[in-house]
Amino acid sequence: MAIYRYRCETDGARDVVRPIGTAEDTLDCPECGAAMPRVFAAPMLNLGSSSARSLLERTERTRERPDVVPAPPPAAGRRSAPATNPGWSRLPRP
Ligand SMILES: [Zn+2]
Repeated sequence: MAIYRYRCETDGARDVVRPIGTAEDTLDCPECGAAMPRVFAAPMLNLGSSSARSLLERTERTRERPDVVPAPPPAAGRRSAPATNPGWSRLPRP
């Protein structure tokens, strides 16, 4: 589906949603009945990569309402005992 814009001389612009490629060249104005020619405008394309767009959207969202977490994240890489390798006992000792 695409949005097509028509312009009536007296009532102004009107947007109509139609499947792509099926828009008529003119429409009858629903208010005054006059023929409205189709107006060509720049398409509303969303350019840019999806990762950059999602980052911008997240940044905009968290500006007003930051993410709240119940607790700090668990410490990563903390071990209770130092790591031992069974092969170390077979190494020559000084
Ligand atoms: Zn009109």
